[in-house]
Amino acid sequence: MKLKETLLSTPPINGNGFAHTKQKKTIDEMQLIDTIGDEHIATSFDTPMRADAFLMSDETKIAAIEKHFAEIMNILGLDLNDDSLRGTPHRVAKMYVKEVFSGLNPKNKPDVKLFDNKYKYNEMLVEKDITFYSNCEHHFVPIIGKAHIAYVANGKVIGLSKLNRIVQYFAKRPQVQERLTVQIAEELKRVLQSEDVAVVIDAVHLCVSSRGVQDVNSSTVTAAYHGKFQNEATRAEFLKYVGK
Ligand SMILES: [Zn+2]
Repeated sequence: MKLKETLLSTPPINGNGFAHTKQKKTIDEMQLIDTIGDEHIATSFDTPMRADAFLMSDETKIAAIEKHFAEIMNILGLDLNDDSLRGTPHRVAKMYVKEVFSGLNPKNKPDVKLFDNKYKYNEMLVEKDITFYSNCEHHFVPIIGKAHIAYVANGKVIGLSKLNRIVQYFAKRPQVQERLTVQIAEELKRVLQSEDVAVVIDAVHLCVSSRGVQDVNSSTVTAAYHGKFQNEATRAEFLKYVGK
């Protein structure tokens, strides 16, 4: 136990007021941690972030994560003097901040412009099979999936690539699939200034397929239907287009 406490009690990263979480956990807390992880339970629809999340620059974050990731590798017994491993802490740190978790930072949110719907197209628009890569917030391993999006144009239309960018932005966070679905739907409602949006996500979670129950065949489907998509016929039309 002594060793474990020593290893876990890393000193604060810097003087920016970043609080470290409590180190000692009770048996009840440990059981809750296991249950939330195994069942993939989301506890909120906003990504839980601290108010001081962006006081540190990206560069400072990369340097700090690099140091801590090197420590994880050290603890696992890996030899960081090996040519192949030496650069790994830096690569992981840069990948976390600049790529796979870049969607945590609001400055990276896609800037969406709407266009007038000159053709008076007021039918459903469906963008299907948007491939995304996210990461499970309980295990930090990939969630790989496809998002299908639809909206009914309401005087304004959005550039199609922006639908894709909105999906990628929210995917590049530690996620749970239900939250990813809701966050995309809420952002679409906001930018389209319309309630009539639908989002379906079909994804595999590597924490389920490669560890834990090791179910390689299952995928998880989540959906958010708003406005006109709560109408059964409209929803059925959308699902027909996406082949569900
Ligand atoms: Zn997981």
